[in-house]
Amino acid sequence: LKERVMINKQRDEMTELGVMFNELMDNLEKSFQQQQQFVEDASHELKTPLTIIHGHLSLINRWGKDNPEVLERSIDLSLNETNRLIHLVSELLTLSRAEESTISQSSLEKLNIRMVMEDIVENFQTINHNFTISSTIDVEADFAIKILKSHLEQIMIILLDNATKYSTEQKLIQIHVSHTNRQLKIEVKDYGEGIPEEELPFVMNRFYRVDKARSRKHGGNGLGLAIAKRLLDLYQGTLEIDSVYGKWTKVQITFPLNGSS
Ligand code: ADP
Repeated sequence: LKERVMINKQRDEMTELGVMFNELMDNLEKSFQQQQQFVEDASHELKTPLTIIHGHLSLINRWGKDNPEVLERSIDLSLNETNRLIHLVSELLTLSRAEESTISQSSLEKLNIRMVMEDIVENFQTINHNFTISSTIDVEADFAIKILKSHLEQIMIILLDNATKYSTEQKLIQIHVSHTNRQLKIEVKDYGEGIPEEELPFVMNRFYRVDKARSRKHGGNGLGLAIAKRLLDLYQGTLEIDSVYGKWTKVQITFPLNGSS
């Protein structure tokens, strides 16, 4: 009997090992496929502006020498596309760096949230004077947590940029900063075009845009929210989006306070 129990136990362990191995291989394959998809999507995004620039250079080559109007227009449009390429490559680098890095809590300095948020709002308001940015900062004057200042700034710029890019007539952005014992919470709400409910689960995916043409017009590559999400992941933070299409969009981010405040 003892022997049979031993054999059964060994068999169970072998089955368990087999299941673990299969899971590991599935995960590896999935991450490989995701990587491949990413390279494919990124190449496609890079190809579009390059094709446009190539088209304009061909135009200049054929007609531009004798036609200053063609020359000027094609140079202008090519410059727009090179700016787009520079922006895209810099976003791809940011995303790749954020995906590679990890944050060691012990190496971080504490950041005064009220001061940093006030600066971010003030700077953003200066550049976007046609917007009313109303901020309520419900944290104590000395409230501080461990986050890299550049990361918080980068996340806030992505959210505020989106709030302006997808605005309609009502140029109002509301920011609310608050905290509980467990987390810091920042909400950014705009009253712009909103996001259709069925698209909400996808907007954080890399390169995903609800309206490709509109986003492109504003220089959007569909990478902003993916970058913000990845930066938040470094702190075990969260990003949630709520929206009523045609009315408003609210993005809420949180940072856990355990061990970091
Ligand atoms: P993009 O650079 O295109 O803005 P994001 O990753 O920041 O990329 O956003 C993905 C998509 O989600 C956008 O293309 C847009 O369709 C939608 N979106 C994001 N934020 C907002 C917002 N505040 N209002 C309406 N739509 C938004």
